[in-house]
Amino acid sequence: MAQIIVLGAGIVGVSTSIWLQRAGYRVTLIDKVGPASGTSFGNAGVLAAGGVIPVTTPGLWKKAPFMLLDKNSPLFLRWRYLPKLAPFLFNYLKKCTEKDVSIYAKGMLPLIYDSVEQHKTLANGTPAEAFIKDADYCFGYDTETRYLGEQSSWTLRKQLGFEFQVESGEDYAKTDPLYAGKFHTVVRCKQHGMITDPGAYVKALARHFEESGGELVVADVMGLGQDNTGKPFLNSSSGKMSAEKLVLTAGVWSRPFMEKMGIKVPMESERGYHIELTSPERYPINPMMVASGKFAVTPMKGRIRCAGVVEFGGTKAGPEDGPIKMLRTHIEALFGDLKYDEIEEWLGHRPAITDSLPMLGQVSADREIYTAFGHQHLGLTGGAKSGKILSDIITQNPTNLDLSPYRPDRFSA
Ligand SMILES: Cc1cc2nc3c(=O)[nH]c(=O)nc-3n(C[C@H](O)[C@H](O)[C@H](O)COP(=O)(O)OP(=O)(O)OC[C@H]3O[C@@H](n4cnc5c(N)ncnc54)[C@H](O)[C@@H]3O)c2cc1C
Repeated sequence: MAQIIVLGAGIVGVSTSIWLQRAGYRVTLIDKVGPASGTSFGNAGVLAAGGVIPVTTPGLWKKAPFMLLDKNSPLFLRWRYLPKLAPFLFNYLKKCTEKDVSIYAKGMLPLIYDSVEQHKTLANGTPAEAFIKDADYCFGYDTETRYLGEQSSWTLRKQLGFEFQVESGEDYAKTDPLYAGKFHTVVRCKQHGMITDPGAYVKALARHFEESGGELVVADVMGLGQDNTGKPFLNSSSGKMSAEKLVLTAGVWSRPFMEKMGIKVPMESERGYHIELTSPERYPINPMMVASGKFAVTPMKGRIRCAGVVEFGGTKAGPEDGPIKMLRTHIEALFGDLKYDEIEEWLGHRPAITDSLPMLGQVSADREIYTAFGHQHLGLTGGAKSGKILSDIITQNPTNLDLSPYRPDRFSA
């Protein structure tokens, strides 16, 4: 069988590698640090099957300046990065319309609605299965005004067939006593799930890939191209490697490779942070989106992880103080009385394209190079299925899915 190289071992690259391996290909998975060393390590772990509302909702462009001035709001910008960011930001904010929200919802829905099942199928019979849990994904509103402010997103979810239940904060606290007295209203989304340790989960999947005969190479890739025979190759710190086909799954770091092929990708990092409370005396039951700070609180193995924030500032700079302080303030208000051992902090990079949809498909008819990146806030949720879809594209197994919203060349036309 033909050999395929997959570049980038986050959830998307690992899932793609496993599905290609199951389809009979010889797969080499390459990563500069190793599996789950990028964004797939520290996310909130939510399988957000109903995540059909993008960040770019109507009115955001009006609210954004005020949010940037409010240190307790979840939107941040490294101002020195603004000149580089400006073209992206302009086109990203142009998507804040009802019509674009609907285009996004229709595009994202097929990738995420059955995410729990998709992860269970991916991990079936492997030790990674143990990390997948069914759960209600809850949204906690501290005031009625804040809840009413998000009515349009709940209406859209209902129209798309998602089941949810609206409860008073008091009633919800009977299920999840850690939140007693914290919320006015809680919306519980059914048929969701969580991964109890996203980094360990992706590593376990990668181990299964290796044990099933896959090759894992740790090397930094500097460039890629096609030789005279049309075969793709890449140059890496371990030398030149070529294959019959190449799949680019390097998350936010995929852009320079696409640009080298002359393909425009308006993608930026939506930097996000997590703070973990290790060995807490008590745990919440379900993952909870805390609406006031737009961060998710997820019970994980040995810790509670609080993850969120959208900060524009590129991939090169380290963490900033502002987002960490903002998260700490909100966490103090929620869990001020809770005892735990330590606090751990992390910065990650969500791969965000201006239309918030990933790039899944063949780069062009004359290149055996394929892409699967750009899943922004939902790469864990949609990663398992994206890998399956890409494997189906490569093996020419009909997907019964309109793939046009994900075309990798959609900005180059
Ligand atoms: C704070 C936060 C919370 C989140 N919460 C959730 C959530 O609850 N649910 C959800 O679905 N999603 C969530 N996400 C988003 C999700 O984590 C990402 O969309 C997803 O991890 C992207 O996966 P990926 O495989 O595309 O990229 P990555 O995981 O970033 O993997 C890319 C890989 O490429 C490798 N690489 C890069 N450059 C090179 C190179 N030159 N050579 C070799 N290798 C290279 C990197 O080392 C890395 O391992 C969250 C993100 C953040 C930041």
